Amino acid sequence: MHRVKVRVVEDALDANNTIARANRADFDAHGVTVINLMSSPGAGKTTLLERALGGLSVRAGVLEGDVQGSLDADRLAHLHIPVVQLNTDGGFGGECHLDANMVRSALPALALDDIDLLVVENVGNLVCPAEFRIGEDVRVMVSSVTEGEDKPLKYPLMFRTCDLVLVNKLDLMPHLEVDLERFLHNLDAVHPDVERMLVSARTGEGIDAWRTWLSELVAARSGAAV
Ligand code: MG
Ligand code: ZN
Repeated sequence: MHRVKVRVVEDALDANNTIARANRADFDAHGVTVINLMSSPGAGKTTLLERALGGLSVRAGVLEGDVQGSLDADRLAHLHIPVVQLNTDGGFGGECHLDANMVRSALPALALDDIDLLVVENVGNLVCPAEFRIGEDVRVMVSSVTEGEDKPLKYPLMFRTCDLVLVNKLDLMPHLEVDLERFLHNLDAVHPDVERMLVSARTGEGIDAWRTWLSELVAARSGAAV
């Protein structure tokens, strides 16, 4: 029985990867660099996007993944960039992650010709979003200092498969009994030397570096495509 179950999971991930490659081909055809942005709920993904995408030198769009509602998409409306809401309870069984097929269903609503960078804000969850490729170029995760030092050890796949870790809410450190050095040590234990930035969406600390990282990512990808 156990063997059959494993087989089914592998088939599902194979099917997902096939669709992810189709997404990737569409993004490449339109010269769009894609970020899969992941974190636990409330870590600050949307606020970090609000901060970084305003004033960004490249044309950005956002695909907002949520189980329900459009609260985060509404928060980005003032940026006057393309934002598409994708709800997993709209025909996808209220899934707690985005997969390649869900992202594919949203592509017709995205004006890929009008953007250079697409940020896909995944559903807040440290577990299954890490298992599903959606056709992204890179994975960025946000880990708030309020979540404690142990998260890399508890959710290693998420921390291991990302290309950049934004350590957010740095402004709250004086109020917390959290050892930042221990967090970074745990991060290196599961993903040695992964790029990380210490940021505060609230005070703006580190936001310039995050914005520069986004611009350089797009420049590097478009340079590689030429
Ligand atoms: Mg959000
Ligand atoms: Zn899930």
